[in-house]
Amino acid sequence: MENIKKILRRKEAANIIDILNNKGYKAIYADSLKEAKDIILNLIPKNSSIGLGGSVTINELDIIDTFRNEEYNLYDRYNQPDWPTTLECMRQALLADYFLTSTNAITKNGELIQVDSGGNRVASLVYGPRNVIVITGVNKLVENLEEGLNRIKNHVGPLNSKRINHKTPCNLTGICENCSTKQRICNFTSIIRHGERMGKRITVIVISEEVGY
Ligand code: SF4
Repeated sequence: MENIKKILRRKEAANIIDILNNKGYKAIYADSLKEAKDIILNLIPKNSSIGLGGSVTINELDIIDTFRNEEYNLYDRYNQPDWPTTLECMRQALLADYFLTSTNAITKNGELIQVDSGGNRVASLVYGPRNVIVITGVNKLVENLEEGLNRIKNHVGPLNSKRINHKTPCNLTGICENCSTKQRICNFTSIIRHGERMGKRITVIVISEEVGY
């Protein structure tokens, strides 16, 4: 059974890669998290500056420690003494050579949808870093924008509220109440409809597995 699932996931990944490549992204297939990690390390030259979006997928890649050695210049948002310094680190990362993040949904039309509480992740995808590498599993694929936004409200928002313990209604109930709380998880939204406004700066690595939220 698992093999059949994997075959289907590979096919889904191959389909969306074709669509993304035709929409101005550079899309690359990975069969596993490990393969995705190797691809990323091949894409990013040593001595590059690197920014990070908050992402379960990136945590699952187990790649951040690699960027903490002297061969890279990591804007290490997870290793700052206090919140103001963390905010400044995230602000500096907006001009990184490479920015790593995931996305919250990809439509079958090749649109990328992401939400963010603080805004650094959605901002980085739209403008700023010279190169953006988006890492995603096939579990993020949705039919259209409406389904993608529903996925975010009903799945991503509650799970991320719980994960980072934001004081939102969905943290308590698991259900979106379209809140207007200060710590709203889905406070900023970006939709990228075509990847090539500023050259092919966005690479999307599609893993034929369920990865992240
Ligand atoms: S709008 Fe509020 S309640 Fe709904 S998913 Fe976002 S943070 Fe949660």
